Amino acid sequence: MTEVEGKSRIAIIGGGLVGALAACFFAKRGHQVVIYEYRSDLRMENSSGQSINLALSFRGREALRAVGLEDIVVKQYGTSMRGRMLHDKNGNLKEVLYDSVKGNCIYSISRRRLNIILLDAAEKYPKVQVNFNKKLVDADLEKGKMKFLNMKTGAMENADADLIIGADGAYSKVRKIMAKRSLFNCAQTYIEHGYVELSVPSGKNNEFAMNGKNLHIWPRGEFMMTSLPNEDHTFTGNLFAPFHVLEKLKTPVTLLRFYTEHFPDLLRLIGEQSLVQQFFEKEPQTLISIKCEPYHVGKTALIIGDAAHAMVPFYAQGMNTGFEDVLLLDELMECYNSDFAKILPKFSELRCDDGHAICDLAMYNYLEMRDLVTRKSFLVRKFVDKI
Ligand code: FAD
Repeated sequence: MTEVEGKSRIAIIGGGLVGALAACFFAKRGHQVVIYEYRSDLRMENSSGQSINLALSFRGREALRAVGLEDIVVKQYGTSMRGRMLHDKNGNLKEVLYDSVKGNCIYSISRRRLNIILLDAAEKYPKVQVNFNKKLVDADLEKGKMKFLNMKTGAMENADADLIIGADGAYSKVRKIMAKRSLFNCAQTYIEHGYVELSVPSGKNNEFAMNGKNLHIWPRGEFMMTSLPNEDHTFTGNLFAPFHVLEKLKTPVTLLRFYTEHFPDLLRLIGEQSLVQQFFEKEPQTLISIKCEPYHVGKTALIIGDAAHAMVPFYAQGMNTGFEDVLLLDELMECYNSDFAKILPKFSELRCDDGHAICDLAMYNYLEMRDLVTRKSFLVRKFVDKI
């Protein structure tokens, strides 16, 4: 990168949701941005067909609005969800609205679609360059020096920047490099639950097979299913269950018996053959929660998004919180005229406690969604006392 008068050369590690959005904010202020993403360009790949979707809420929308992307995301590609729909074992339904007074809702949006919108938006700024197939393998965070593995050629490449932004997700390399420094605290927790993603097809005449205005939940105490609507009238579901339960679902027979007993309505919608095929296609994924502090190194490095505060997905706030990080960073750039010596420590000061709090809330909602939604409140207090 070449230096530009009065502006910083910023390297963003990770071209996922938060990294691509951050690029828009930096470029808007005239900084020169290079995104390094270790995967290939997802816009060049054929879609896998199955949509992984995320719930977008107020704090995420605010950040999108600030770079002019809220309307396209929400109005063109978002599916509104006005509340939770709880399914009991007998197929009885109970709707719990998110906002019964003003009717506010959250939106389901495809992760892939959102990432494409954000990468396209970032690349519209002449000052943004996106380098795919570049994996950060090492960095000197004080000196702004980085080493990348070119995933296509296998060659090692060097680069430098005034500021390195680690937006490289829950298993962040930038955070791991920070962790070697003194006075950096970091705690990671794997929960005992894993998850398996399952697609629920559309129903008759390509309509939604269940109410398309809800986030659906099948709370079953130790485990649960959730499902979010997609633009094409399918749903994307997730089974969240402890690994000791998932390990018992080793054959089509045990799997179908499990779904017949616990999720009979869902089994009818997915179909036995499709359930078996989807379930055994991939391994269950783990879920991690990260709390660390500070989020910065001097005036030269900062972690944001999941790199700073990965959380369990039960509060549906991981991406939203990452988007809010970027909004805060932008406010600090405004306040301190892009002086990163002032901005970075202030960001840690203002954001670490919030990051830790939302990780706790997400962990609490882990219990709430799978169990407490069906029970009286004394257990809630017992759990809240622990966090
Ligand atoms: P990521 O999306 O992980 O992106 C990181 C990027 O960095 C990736 O593209 C990766 O390839 C790249 N990268 C990694 N390492 C390197 C490296 N060494 N060099 C270069 N590039 C690198 N959040 C919500 O707000 N709402 C929801 O409903 C919701 N549902 C969820 C459901 C599930 C099952 C899960 C697991 C998470 C959910 N989340 C949700 C959380 C959300 O997915 C994350 O918070 C969000 O993706 C974080 O974005 P990010 O850009 O920080 O990280």
